[in-house]
Amino acid sequence: MSRRATPLRLDSTACDGCGRCVARCKPRALKLGSGYILVDWASCDGCGKCAEVCDRGAIELRSPTGVTAPRHAAGAKPAAAPKRVTVATRAPDDGAPSWSLPEAALAVAFALALYLAMQLVPRGVTHAPVWSGVVSLAYYAAITGLLIFLARRHGASVLSAYRLDAAPEWSSLGLAAVTALACWLVSVGYYRAVQLAGLRPSVADGPAVATLFGPGAIGAGLTLLVLAVIGPVLEEMLLRGPVLGALRIRFGPWPAIAASAVAYALLHASVWSFLPFTVLGIALGWLAVRSRSLWPAVAAHVLYNTVFVGAALYKALGG
Ligand code: SF4
Ligand code: SF4
Repeated sequence: MSRRATPLRLDSTACDGCGRCVARCKPRALKLGSGYILVDWASCDGCGKCAEVCDRGAIELRSPTGVTAPRHAAGAKPAAAPKRVTVATRAPDDGAPSWSLPEAALAVAFALALYLAMQLVPRGVTHAPVWSGVVSLAYYAAITGLLIFLARRHGASVLSAYRLDAAPEWSSLGLAAVTALACWLVSVGYYRAVQLAGLRPSVADGPAVATLFGPGAIGAGLTLLVLAVIGPVLEEMLLRGPVLGALRIRFGPWPAIAASAVAYALLHASVWSFLPFTVLGIALGWLAVRSRSLWPAVAAHVLYNTVFVGAALYKALGG
């Protein structure tokens, strides 16, 4: 029995796991795994939409004369194509590892365990000026250790493992600023609506933030550094690195964005903040997926936190 060529040429070594192809495949014929691309040819209708959105050459349309970019002719479903094809595996070629689901689970579980461990620290310490800041620094030091451990497991540098070695486009940074502003407006509107409903959301207020490293300009500067820069950078590396990365290549971008956003909100352990943090997490995940660099998501997160922490400090310091 003769076999006709499949309509697509697949090259998993060029794939960065962005997930755009999966999102465009209406018959759900396409799946990405850890370093492989899989097509269920029985479901694939040869529409070519996956090839249209793949700008890495990992999926291309075939023509009778070879590999071409144009769309496949309508209805040109292969007659006797193999049921399934997987393409040889290798880590994505942008330097980011192919994160595994156990690594994603470890990242979330480790951060949750750290949070629970912090609850065991006496309140006299966690609410005392300077000491509360030291506890925060210890938390972020442990997260840093985990991030280094995960990068080393894949033999990658920390910068390349978390896509911090690729410079973002200026347009992405502009989009990050707009995204941060939009999320900030959503959060402010949400807290205002909750207050108007007669509820009293217990979120971090000015005095709580101001006591992190004690009063005064140095304390305020350290607070801003830890809460608005170090925290967002590490959170983006953790959640938009192993967590979003492992889920994206298995389930597509939007389920991965949603799951990493919920994980991000849960790690803040605040019922009141769950909704706005989930919205922020979705926006940050979207920024991370649409760029090959993590910097736009980091920039948006830093900006968002800077506005909130800055406003709280200003209020607490009597501005
Ligand atoms: S669109 Fe993205 S995920 Fe799909 S094959 Fe191309 S690079 Fe890989
Ligand atoms: S050609 Fe169309 S149906 Fe086939 S895998 Fe690509 S997007 Fe899905």
